[in-house]
Amino acid sequence: MKLIVLSGPGGVGKSTVISFLRANEKNVWVSVSATTRKPRTGEVDGIDYYFLSDSQFDKWIAEDKFLEWADFAGARYGTPKQFVDEHLESGKSVLLELEISGARQVRAKNPKALLVFLAPPSWEELEERLLKRGTDTEERRAARLTLARAEMAAQGEFDLTLINTSVEEVATRLISLALD
Ligand code: 5GP
Repeated sequence: MKLIVLSGPGGVGKSTVISFLRANEKNVWVSVSATTRKPRTGEVDGIDYYFLSDSQFDKWIAEDKFLEWADFAGARYGTPKQFVDEHLESGKSVLLELEISGARQVRAKNPKALLVFLAPPSWEELEERLLKRGTDTEERRAARLTLARAEMAAQGEFDLTLINTSVEEVATRLISLALD
């Protein structure tokens, strides 16, 4: 059983890969994170995230419930550690989808974890995807691009990079890494 972290810039398609994997591979368990951001349309509490208030999140930190947690784009995100430990102990591989600082924290705590970076086929393609997203203000768009540039710069810290040319191919590759 392995602990795998998937990271990459916003807009690269991490959540699409994760949804595919959840639907198609029962031997890899995908962790459900906690967050203080508000649910988006269609997101379900306990499935996509545990949606917590700021004070609930504070309480989980105080109770040492997180394997890692980070501030990202105005909200907090964290991995509840109990389920991760339980799945690893029961012999399942576990996949975490994290922003960069979470990936660094997991590496520090668990040097055996495999850190995978999901990269776009080109910067232009990522830019296009990020600019199309939602109904952001010009300021929010600029902030997203700046953040994505910083995230791309962390690629060298990862054990391997997968280029997101096809959701199915990336998911299949992750499954074989996890079950190897
Ligand atoms: P979103 O709000 O778009 O769902 O996620 C924003 C970012 O938070 C993404 O880069 C996602 O990978 C990251 N993220 C989701 N859950 C966690 C978590 O538990 N810990 C950390 N560090 N990042 C997370």
